[in-house]
Amino acid sequence: MDIDKAVRQHLEMEHFFSGFALKGKAGAPEPQQQEDDPVPSEAEAMAAAEKAAELEKIAEEAHQCRKCGLGSLRTNAVPGEGNPNARIMFVGEGPGADEDAQGRPFVGRAGQLLDKVIVAMGLKRSDVFIGNILKCRPPENRDPRADEIISCLPYLQRQIEIIEPEIIVALGAHAARTLLNTTKSIGQLRGQFHEYYAGLGRPPIKLMATYHTAYLLRNYSQENRRRVWEDMKKVLTELGLPIPEHSTG
Ligand code: URA
Repeated sequence: MDIDKAVRQHLEMEHFFSGFALKGKAGAPEPQQQEDDPVPSEAEAMAAAEKAAELEKIAEEAHQCRKCGLGSLRTNAVPGEGNPNARIMFVGEGPGADEDAQGRPFVGRAGQLLDKVIVAMGLKRSDVFIGNILKCRPPENRDPRADEIISCLPYLQRQIEIIEPEIIVALGAHAARTLLNTTKSIGQLRGQFHEYYAGLGRPPIKLMATYHTAYLLRNYSQENRRRVWEDMKKVLTELGLPIPEHSTG
């Protein structure tokens, strides 16, 4: 990448991120534990510890997994991370180069933007769970193949069953189509709640589809940012959470 382009992209990204900052608080650090944050009861803390242990088992399996060809290409599997009691679960497509290198989801540029969106929602990254359809990086970040999705999806399905989030936010077409078993476009799917079926006897989980933050970075427009923010406002309203005053720049 030539230096001009790199500088331009950096400046654009800074501007873009600031569009997701809270009004009057641009660049503010992640909110820290507030004095009035609820302290979990002993039962809640034990339930969270059990869930964390089950999630850890899935992570171990993902690290050993060779169910598809991506297993032999990865540096690290990226099982996902976050709060075992999360009310919101963000689901992306699959790890990119940064995620593959670190073994953590959404840590590259798209991840930095997702962090901004989460903070703009008045939340912390540690409040939510962040996962992916694929646990290993497809070469050159190509689209996930059907056989890879079929092999990998059970890990995510089990994570959803354990966490039992109230809302899943599907980031981008691949996550939304896979979880909703549809071929509709992300333009058709975003902006409204759908239902994700976690299995017989389990109540459906509300799913909001929105643009992937990597798509937002490639299609830098106020309109697209506004659409994502509208989608996230619906999520907050559904959960009974306050909507922070916000500018999409
Ligand atoms: N894009 C994704 O879909 N997932 C990640 O973890 C990072 C980028």
